[in-house]
Order: sequence, then C-alpha cells, then structure tokens
Amino acid sequence: MSLNTEVAIIGGGIGGLTLGLKLAQANVDVTVLEKLDAPSSVYKGELLQPKSMKIFEELDVLDVILDNGFSFSRIAFEEGEKEFAMDYSILPGDYDYSLMIEHEKLKGILLNQALQYPHFHYLSGSLAKGYDNGQLMVERKDVKKQLTVRADFYIGAEGRNSITRKEMNSKIKKIEYNHQFLTVTFPRPQSLEEGKIISRNERFLGLFPLPDAKVRSVYLIPEGTYKEHLKKGIHYFHKNYVELFPELEGYVTRLKNWKDIQLMIPTAFYADKYVDGRLAILGDAAHTVHPMAGEGMNMAIQDADVLGELLAEMYASGRISPDRLKWYEKVRKPRAENMISLSHLSAIAYSYSNRVITGIRRKGLKQMERDKTLQYKQMLNVSGLGYWSESLWDRLIQAGMLPARKTELSAADKSHYFYTEQEDYPWKKVEQP
Ligand SMILES: Cc1cc2nc3c(=O)[nH]c(=O)nc-3n(C[C@H](O)[C@H](O)[C@H](O)COP(=O)(O)OP(=O)(O)OC[C@H]3O[C@@H](n4cnc5c(N)ncnc54)[C@H](O)[C@@H]3O)c2cc1C
Repeated sequence: MSLNTEVAIIGGGIGGLTLGLKLAQANVDVTVLEKLDAPSSVYKGELLQPKSMKIFEELDVLDVILDNGFSFSRIAFEEGEKEFAMDYSILPGDYDYSLMIEHEKLKGILLNQALQYPHFHYLSGSLAKGYDNGQLMVERKDVKKQLTVRADFYIGAEGRNSITRKEMNSKIKKIEYNHQFLTVTFPRPQSLEEGKIISRNERFLGLFPLPDAKVRSVYLIPEGTYKEHLKKGIHYFHKNYVELFPELEGYVTRLKNWKDIQLMIPTAFYADKYVDGRLAILGDAAHTVHPMAGEGMNMAIQDADVLGELLAEMYASGRISPDRLKWYEKVRKPRAENMISLSHLSAIAYSYSNRVITGIRRKGLKQMERDKTLQYKQMLNVSGLGYWSESLWDRLIQAGMLPARKTELSAADKSHYFYTEQEDYPWKKVEQP
C-alpha cells in the first residue's frame, strides 16, 4: 500500500497538529500519521503562553480554546512567609494572559478544525517505523499492512523518541535533574483562580487552575524517593498538599488512588540540527525543556508556526526546495536554546533546599518584583512574544548588589522587544522575488 502527499507529519501531538492545521489552511496536501488510536491518559503540557494565543488567533481557533480553557494573568509565588507575583498583564497588547487547557482537549480542537479542510488527512493507529530509500514506512494497526508514504517533506513531530531525528543523525545534548515531580488533577476550591507556586524549606507545590473547577498540581520529590512516597500511601500525599496549602482540605483528599498520580521525570535536551535534506524535526523531537517554566508545548506550537509559514510559502510561490528549510532552523534553534537556558535556571533555583540557594531565590524574586525592567524582561521572555536578554547589570540587581530600577517602562519601550514579522519569517524579506 502506498500514499502520496506533499507534507507528511509523523506524530499527531500538539506540534504536529498545529503544523497540520496551518498547512491545511494554506491548501497544502498534508498527512498526519499518529500511532495512537485513542486519546492518551498521560498528563502533558496544559499551560499556554501568550505567543501561542497569538498563533492560535491567526489560525482562527482562539475563541474555541478560550471557551474550553481557564485564563489568568497572575502566578503568585509563596516563599515561606513572603509572597511575590509574576504578572502577564504588564505585557502590552492583547495577549497579556496565560491559559490552562486539558492537553487532550486542545488536541481535539486542533484536529477537528483541521479536518474541515479537504487537504488535511489524519491516519490514527499508524506507527512510523523508519525510512527506506527516502520513503517513510508505516505500520497500520487496522489493516495490518505496511504503508509506504511518499512526500516532498517529512516532518518529525513524534516527541522525545523521534525516528526522524535518528534518520537525520541529529545528536542530542541532555541535561538531567536531581528531582522528579508527582502530578495530578483534582477538584479545586473556587477561590483558586490564579497560578500558585508554594515553596517552603525543601518542599515545592505548583497549582494551576483548569476549567470545570479543577486544578493541575505538581509536587517536587527528590530523585529516588518515589517508592517511599508510594509506600507511605495516599494519606501522606494528601497531608503534604494540605500542609502547604490548607485550602486544599476537602479537595485533594478526594483523590483515593495512587494510580491517578503520575510520576514526571524532568529532562532537557536539544538536538544539534533541526533540518537535513527533506527532513525536519519540531517540538519535543528537537528539544525538551524542564517543565518548571511551562514552555514545552508552546515551543512546539512556535516551531510549527515558523515551519508552517515557510512550507506554505514554498507551495504558494512554487519555489519548493529543501535548501530553504534552513530558515526554520535559523529562526527556531537559537530561540529554543534561550528558552532551555531560562527553564534550566528556574529549575536550578528549586533544585536545592539549602539556606544559601533559598536565600538567593527569595532575593531574586523580591528584586524582580521591585525592578520594573527585570520584571518585564522575565514576562516577555516567558511569553514567547519577544526576547530581551538579561545583562550583567540585571544579574547584579537580582542579587541585590545594585538598586532596583523602579521607573515603569513605556508601552513603546516594551513593544520594541517584541519579535517582528521579519524576525519570525526572515526569508520573506531576504528572498523577495
Ligand atoms: C507531565 C508533563 C507535564 C508538562 N507540562 C507542560 C506545561 O505545563 N506546559 C508546556 O508547555 N509543556 C509541558 N510539558 C511538555 C509538553 O507536553 C511537550 O513539550 C509537548 O507535548 C510537545 O509536543 P509535541 O507535539 O512535540 O510532542 P508530543 O506531545 O510528545 O506528541 C508526539 C506524538 O507523536 C506520536 N508518535 C510518537 N512516535 C510515533 C511514531 N513512530 N509514529 C507515529 N506517531 C508517533 C505520539 O503518540 C504523540 O501523539 C509537559 C510534559 C509532561 C510529560
């Protein structure tokens, strides 16, 4: 059995579906091959950052995402007795909030929207096994036959264990951490309407409100202690949560079974190339980040946006050439590497519970709240809407060695650091016919 398509996408996760939708809207014939044949029960990313909202608005799906998600502007950090906040509302423009949405719900929205386009094809139960002579070999669950896929381009969006990355001989650099997380969703008190990160001594609990009065939680445990937690039982789990946030009494306690709680092992890696001939990788296939900064899914969406724009433009102009894929790597690789560094720094700040690190973290948060420039840089860089690098001066302010800059930045100063269309899609200017 064989199939011909213009662009084959391996993996129907958030990255693959965003790219599929974007290409389908541009009338490119696109086929998404997904190994699963039903929604997965594994928890994955649920926090959407502002740039993702902008991309989804351009894809005409933002309204339905807003209807199915829970948006908020503030994430409060409780550090011992003190409270600090990260506030998206300091971002100028329409995308000054973040949003929580169940991962499978978001996938369903993207898939349903894409299925409305005649050039979009979705084959579930299709496991891509590898490449042979430049063609993709796929095993179909239902027909028990091998399918050969012939395409102009093959995009690996198959997550961490990417067969496309392997075919490209793209090597990864890995970062490992000394902690893991327990993660679970449960009903929330109505009053919990913003993100909350509670950190006390060696303990850390993150709470992020979902729609339908639910909350997603992440609880940090030192590496190698999962079995101990399991042995102590579900009541010990409840107790840890309620001690850190007493309002959860009567809510987290509704969890009755350890089976609902997932162990999440953070790693970060980045591939040394995203493109090779007619192959490209995106999302977790190309990079993973520590989950602390809530960026992984957003990076997959941003990759899909840039690569989708480039491929769409190739088909619209008739200048279809694998050489032009380099533009995608040029834009996305440095941005992804900046994001990995940012997430890594946040992860390190919570990796050690000694007094020195806790003191540095508290000082850093306090200075960030007082210093308007630092605060804005942090929110902008997390949002994905732009990038403003941190200088040595900033680091000294953060460490409390220089006074905080309390002057508010103007909207024009702030917008100056937003990515422009030319920065997102630089080939448009350089390659004008
Ligand atoms: C517990 C957890 C919490 C997270 N929290 C956040 C968060 O709050 N915010 C955030 O932004 N990110 C978060 N992330 C990261 C985020 O989920 C990922 O970065 C994001 O899902 C990556 O999307 P993707 O499309 O690249 O890959 P994936 O979501 O991994 O999708 C890959 C798809 O490819 C399919 N596939 C794999 N191999 C094949 C094959 N050979 N053939 C066919 N199909 C295949 C898989 O079944 C899957 O559907 C979290 C991740 C985890 C695990």
